[in-house]
Amino acid sequence: MIIGLTGGIATGKSTASLILSEQGIPVIDADIIAKDAVMPGKDAYEKIVAFFGDEVLLSDKNLDRARLGEIIFNNSEKRQKLNEIVHPAVRSEMKKQAELYLSGGNPLVIMDIPLLFESKLNHMVDETWLIYTHPDLQLRRLMERDGYSEEQALSRIKSQMPIDEKKELADVVIENNDTKAELKQKLLNILHDVTKTDSIN
Ligand code: ATP
Repeated sequence: MIIGLTGGIATGKSTASLILSEQGIPVIDADIIAKDAVMPGKDAYEKIVAFFGDEVLLSDKNLDRARLGEIIFNNSEKRQKLNEIVHPAVRSEMKKQAELYLSGGNPLVIMDIPLLFESKLNHMVDETWLIYTHPDLQLRRLMERDGYSEEQALSRIKSQMPIDEKKELADVVIENNDTKAELKQKLLNILHDVTKTDSIN
């Protein structure tokens, strides 16, 4: 079974992923795969350079992500083009890795996909788990973690689908409003249930 783990910015996806991987469950991180997909020599890298030109390269030939970000910021056509290059590469790599884990005998694989609902990626997973925190706590944790002002943090939160809307879409909602120990206990309980159901089927 492939689980899509998602949430809002700073609701605790990485914290949950770490807990799950400590339990021996393979976690495939969409952000890491996306960074890897645009490394020199990769297919997506070549396509980006062919389309955007050398101006998106640093002197060491790595992609200048900040420059690329500037270019697509105000240009929806170019942003769409970039997405058309990067997204399929990321999706196929994630699928490939998941299949490897499953065929290697792992009953459960986690895909950590921050924008799962925004990008409508439900089709990639069997079940969605949402790491939820109350919006006021989400704001506080984001400000503390990244040193943002309230205004900076709010603008980042508002660029995503509201966490309460995601709650409606998720198969399993995991509340992360308490301690990390509490979150771990909730995850262990869910894992216990999933494994039990699996062995009955
Ligand atoms: P992003 O979307 O930015 O990748 P995320 O969803 O992965 O964020 P985390 O980085 O796991 O979120 O958590 C955000 C911050 O909140 C971190 O500083 C983390 O240590 C803290 N945090 C997460 N869960 C708890 C908790 N239960 N109690 C206290 N702090 C927590």
